[in-house]
Amino acid sequence: AVQDPSVEAAELERTFIAIKPDGVQRGLISEIISRFERKGYKLVAVKLVVPTKEFAMQHYDDLKGRPFFNGLCDFLSSGPVLAMVWEGQGVIKYGRKLIGATAPQNSEPGTIRGDLAISVGRNIIHGSDGPETAVAEIALWFKPEELLSYSKVTDKWLYE
Ligand code: GDP
Ligand code: MG
Repeated sequence: AVQDPSVEAAELERTFIAIKPDGVQRGLISEIISRFERKGYKLVAVKLVVPTKEFAMQHYDDLKGRPFFNGLCDFLSSGPVLAMVWEGQGVIKYGRKLIGATAPQNSEPGTIRGDLAISVGRNIIHGSDGPETAVAEIALWFKPEELLSYSKVTDKWLYE
């Protein structure tokens, strides 16, 4: 769909981002979306869902055995979650930078968690931590047909 091959190559990277129930309840959806949008990333999938506990356990499978695992999965399944896929060059790694450190007490000011959260168990947002997790999490939360590919007139102003 995009003519410029450099833009096409840059588009290939995608990450899974979710606003957790605390972020939704606190009215932070537009605040968080705007940070990704203003950076230049492209929203290619989005839905508001209440995950089941079993689904939450699958999502956080790598953390099973941790003392907070059960509470974390109860929490993620406690209300609406805004599940999203964002696309752009370097979005996996830089998305984590935008989000900030896991514990908001350690998140830098200017990051989402640094500016908007206090507790590690209520840190409002999830983001894939690497290319493999991004692929797995996108596949867990979205059907292939829910993922869009489209060009924007700004693409050529974002990528050289
Ligand atoms: P993330 O990738 O930065 O979200 O962090 P992890 O993948 O390590 O952990 C997943 C989520 O579990 C975090 O976002 C926190 O909400 C929660 N979590 C991680 N560590 C702790 C902890 O020590 N205590 C509690 N209560 N929750 C934690
Ligand atoms: Mg993680």
